[in-house]
Amino acid sequence: MPINCFGDEELAYLREVIEGQEAWRWGKSNFVPRFEESFGRHLGRKYVHAVNSGTSANETACASLGLEPGDEVIIPAVAPVFVSFPIVAIGCVPVFADVDPRTQIIDPEAIDACLTDRTRAMVVIHMYGQPAPMDDLMATARRNGLRVIEDCAQAYDACYRGRKVGTIGDVACFSMQQSKHITSGEGGMIATDDPDLYKRATEYANSGMPWYMYDLERPEAEPVNGVPTRGHFSFGHDFRFSELQGAVALAQLEKIEQFHARRRRLVEILEDELRGLPGIQLAHVYPETEPNYWFYPVRGPEKVGCVGEINYLEVEFQRMQENRRTSLGIPLPDYVQYAPGICPCAEESVKGRRNFFVHHSVEIHELQAGIDEFKECAGVC
Ligand SMILES: *Cc1c(COP(=O)(O)O)cnc(C)c1O
Repeated sequence: MPINCFGDEELAYLREVIEGQEAWRWGKSNFVPRFEESFGRHLGRKYVHAVNSGTSANETACASLGLEPGDEVIIPAVAPVFVSFPIVAIGCVPVFADVDPRTQIIDPEAIDACLTDRTRAMVVIHMYGQPAPMDDLMATARRNGLRVIEDCAQAYDACYRGRKVGTIGDVACFSMQQSKHITSGEGGMIATDDPDLYKRATEYANSGMPWYMYDLERPEAEPVNGVPTRGHFSFGHDFRFSELQGAVALAQLEKIEQFHARRRRLVEILEDELRGLPGIQLAHVYPETEPNYWFYPVRGPEKVGCVGEINYLEVEFQRMQENRRTSLGIPLPDYVQYAPGICPCAEESVKGRRNFFVHHSVEIHELQAGIDEFKECAGVC
């Protein structure tokens, strides 16, 4: 049976928030901290901070690394723009690495070509719920002194060599937008084991105010010239997650295994229907990984469609290319190019692709209709 997105569990928690008369992050019903602590235990990370979107989580994760304007961050060429814009937003320069065309995941072999003396970090996206080859990526990162952000927005509870994704890099980010494995409508989180990254992240997402949890000591604001100050210790935004979102997110997390079971059932049906058909390739699974699909990616002849967002081809990146500066005015060095053709595998990889939505709310007849239409389109029925 398909599972509704929301149910009585969410309603019961929401009622507590409403009855408590406080819906902001620090409301007395305490759902945001409860959710953060539960998610930390679920994932296996010490510190979790929830924010108002996955995009905010990506920006907060970048900011937590203490990057300087003009620093370069390597990211895969195939990515939601919600991954590259946050890099631009903190004054850094996105540098696109080519991908493995089978998975559209950043190719460890493509990193070297992107390295310069300004490279500070790399964002790895576990695309569609497929774990990236983390050993090779981490080895390259460590060899070159790069920090690693794992973007797990599409890959809750997927595993790489027995470890959950989001526990391998320096900091991980998640989205709780409507389509993701769990949702509060909109929302996001960062997770890390490093208290300094956690502190910087929470300040960035709270306009510089250090309201840390986990019993970490908060500095006190001193008066200046006898005038009290509020305690904005660093630059930041208000990316706060509300109690209403926290209530829904906690109820969702408590049901996550049910959601996963339903997704696995849909994936089984899909794989059984498409396995062995001429010219059709199921998702490529790297050795020793357990994907947990968000969409299930299938490859076939070109006529089945074209999917995958290539960031540097977007209008705003073309504008940066022409102006030779980022949207924030940071100059682009000559070696940073956003020209068509810079990542040929990425551009090739989007052709002949169809992604099947395997969300727990999808009905089997809906999936079946998609499969039938796909087979006809691919000419394999
Ligand atoms: C959804 C998504 C985001 C952005 O999350 P929002 O909550 O929509 O802002 C970032 N990265 C990836 C890989 C995503 O799939």
